[in-house]
Amino acid sequence: MMECMICGKELKIVYKVEIDGNIIETCENCAKAHGRIVETFRSGYEKEINSKFEKREIDPIEEDIELVEDFNELIRNSREKFGLSLEEAARKLGIKESFLAKIESGEILPDKKTLKKMEKFFKIKLEEKIESKKLEKKSQEDKLRIADIVEIK
Ligand SMILES: [Zn+2]
Repeated sequence: MMECMICGKELKIVYKVEIDGNIIETCENCAKAHGRIVETFRSGYEKEINSKFEKREIDPIEEDIELVEDFNELIRNSREKFGLSLEEAARKLGIKESFLAKIESGEILPDKKTLKKMEKFFKIKLEEKIESKKLEKKSQEDKLRIADIVEIK
């Protein structure tokens, strides 16, 4: 029997959902709460996904926000600071231990809902506005340019 990758519930009907570019198998509740449903099938009758990213829709509200670069380390460090095992933290967050482990290893990006829970629970900031990142990059470029000029001289 397959189980939901988020909450661990046994699956009769499997919902494949796309969360930040990763396809994971979940139950109906988690599918509706967390991601975009790619396909559903009866457990045990899995077939290949061939239309994976064809109709990808980008939520305009989420577009200008992205995860901080070392979000997985941040989550792991915070969890360790709280003295929680993977299992304990996953239970408190209402997600599966293996799902949390994958998030911490950077293998999977957490979905919005899990992200918000983690930010609240660990009191950390996991998202950053892309806009500010761009500005930062630009000022770095400016610095480089100045450095170039200095070198030429
Ligand atoms: Zn579930």
